[in-house]
Amino acid sequence: MRLKIIIGNWKMNKTGPEAMELARGLIGTVGKTDRPRVVLCPPFTALGDVAKLIKGSSIFLGAQNMYSKESGAYTGEIAPAMLLTIGVSYVILGHSERREYFSESDVIVNDKVKLAIKTGLIPIVCVGEKLEERDAGLSEEFIGRQIDGSLGDLTEEELKKVVIAYEPVWAIGTGRTATPEMAQEIHIFIRNRLGKRYGDIAAGTISILYGGSVNGGNAAGLLSQPDIDGALVGGASLKIDEFTKIVSSI
Ligand code: PEP
Repeated sequence: MRLKIIIGNWKMNKTGPEAMELARGLIGTVGKTDRPRVVLCPPFTALGDVAKLIKGSSIFLGAQNMYSKESGAYTGEIAPAMLLTIGVSYVILGHSERREYFSESDVIVNDKVKLAIKTGLIPIVCVGEKLEERDAGLSEEFIGRQIDGSLGDLTEEELKKVVIAYEPVWAIGTGRTATPEMAQEIHIFIRNRLGKRYGDIAAGTISILYGGSVNGGNAAGLLSQPDIDGALVGGASLKIDEFTKIVSSI
């Protein structure tokens, strides 16, 4: 049975006090839910405080990024061990906004994935095509390349520690979402791709999440698909009612 996971990506939103308020509200609604697993990803500046708040609840903590080195002269960067020691369990890697605005390539994502696993963090590896690739009928070719490049030479044991998020770029923050059938088709494609490389058992145990304008209204349809194991939620994760509804949709 694959783990069902709902992740809230707060992106660059919420000051410290605002983050505490949102986390407090969510502890009140989903703080005892362990199916699905709920993961909150506040900005770095709020991680420490939110970590203290969620202690004793069922909620897990995630970061939105990390650097690909263990320590050293990398001004402004955050090492994975720094995250782990304050109570972070998950880290989002290769989000399309990182790929687009900060030029993160598959090679960089792969370096981060390997170090996250070595450190003991669970990487949430994001892949997804842009509208021009979808319109040109190249979605699978593009996503296949991103999967191969971002996972690189991971072993089967390492792969089992990874969560994948399929996030079509044209659906992120746009209010346009993939239909459940469109998303399911790509999720199967990803699972088969993993199966060819790592075998059916590894591919069958990996949680593959959908992301892209998921909200309280469309979550149930998406999450009812057999290969959609949860959601990575941006905008709607900032609203207690919406996020709670998404969590209750599984
Ligand atoms: C995201 O941040 O990964 C995301 C899917 O955002 P949104 O839900 O706002 O589209």
